[in-house]
Amino acid sequence: MDRVKLVIIGSGPAGYTAALYSARANLSPVLYEGFFSGVAGGQLMTTTDVENYPGFPDGVQGPELMHLFRKQAERFGTCYINEDVKSVDLSSHPFKVVGSHTSFEAESIIITTGAEAKRLDIPGTHDGELWQKGVTACAICDGAAPIFRDKELYVIGGGDSAVEEALFLTNYGSQVYIVHRREELRASKIMAERAMKHPKVTILWDSVVTKVEGEKLVESVTIQNVKTKEEKSHEAAGLFFAVGHTPNTKFLNGQLDLHPNGYLKVKPGTVQTSVEGVFAGGDVQDFTYRQAITAAGSGCMAALEAERWLAARE
Ligand code: NDP
Repeated sequence: MDRVKLVIIGSGPAGYTAALYSARANLSPVLYEGFFSGVAGGQLMTTTDVENYPGFPDGVQGPELMHLFRKQAERFGTCYINEDVKSVDLSSHPFKVVGSHTSFEAESIIITTGAEAKRLDIPGTHDGELWQKGVTACAICDGAAPIFRDKELYVIGGGDSAVEEALFLTNYGSQVYIVHRREELRASKIMAERAMKHPKVTILWDSVVTKVEGEKLVESVTIQNVKTKEEKSHEAAGLFFAVGHTPNTKFLNGQLDLHPNGYLKVKPGTVQTSVEGVFAGGDVQDFTYRQAITAAGSGCMAALEAERWLAARE
C-alpha cells in the first residue's frame, strides 16, 4: 500500500481548495473525487448561475467554477482518483484509506465529502414507486427532461434551494408550485422576491404533500393545508424535493465525533476533528453557512492545519 502525506476525501470547493494549498506546499495530495454520484465537484455541479462567488461580477455557472478549481489544483500536482472512499481506519497511524480499487496509508486526512439532498417519506415517492419517474431531489439536474415540458410541477421546501429550483423549472413547466409547510419562506429576501414576482411561480403556504400517484410517471400530487387539514389532488408531472441536506459521513463508521444532526464536529474556530491529524472542510462540517466561498475558506484552513501538523511531527 502506497504511503502518502495527505489524502483529501471529496471534491467540491473545499476539497479542491485544500488540494491547491497542500499541493503548493509540496504535500503531493491524493484527492478522492467520488464516483457514486457520477460527477466529481460536489453540489455546484448541479447548480446553474452562481452570482455570489467573489471574482465573477457577471456570475459563473457552477460546473464551470468547479472545472476551474480542479484545474488550478492540478497545476501544482494534485493526484485525482475517480473513486469513492469505502472506508477509513483512523485507529492507528498512519491512517488507512480504502477506495473502490485503490488504497493508501495516509499521514494526514482532510474530509470534504459535503452533503446530499434529503428526501421525504411520502407515499408514492420511494424507490420502486415514482422515484426518478417524475420525483427527484435535483431540479437543476433533471428539470430539462421531456416529461416535465409544459406541465405542472411542484417543489417542496421554503429555502434558497426551493426558490432557485422553482425559478429554474419555470424554463420548462407550464406552472411551478412551491409547497411550503409554513407561511414564510426561509429563503433570502432577494430570492424570495424573485419567486413571489414570477408569473409562473405560485407558493402554496402552510401546505404539505401527502401522496404522489401515477401509473408509470407522476400524474398527480395530493396537497394538504396543515391549518385547515383540507386535502386536494392536483394534476402534476413532477415533484422536486428541496428540503435540505444530509452530510456524507457514513464511510467514517463512527470513528469521528459528530453533532446530533450528523455533521462532523470540529474544535470551535478550527477545522480539527476529534482525531489528531484528521481535518474537515466544507459542508460536511458546516450547517450554518454552507456557501461555496465558506467551503473554499475552510478547505484552505484544513490544508494549512494539515501542513503545520505534519511539519510539527517531523
Ligand atoms: P434550508 O435548510 O435552508 O431549507 C430547507 C427547507 O426545507 C426549509 O424551508 C424547511 O422548512 C423545508 N423542510 C425541511 N424539512 C421539511 C419537511 N420534513 N417537510 C417539509 N418541508 C421541510 O436548505 P436549502 O437547501 O434551501 O439551503 C441550504 C443552504 O444553501 C442555505 O444556507 C442557503 O442559503 C444556501 N443556498 C444558496 C443558494 C443561492 O444563494 N443561490 C441556492 C441554494 C442554497 P422550514 O423553513 O419550515 O424549516
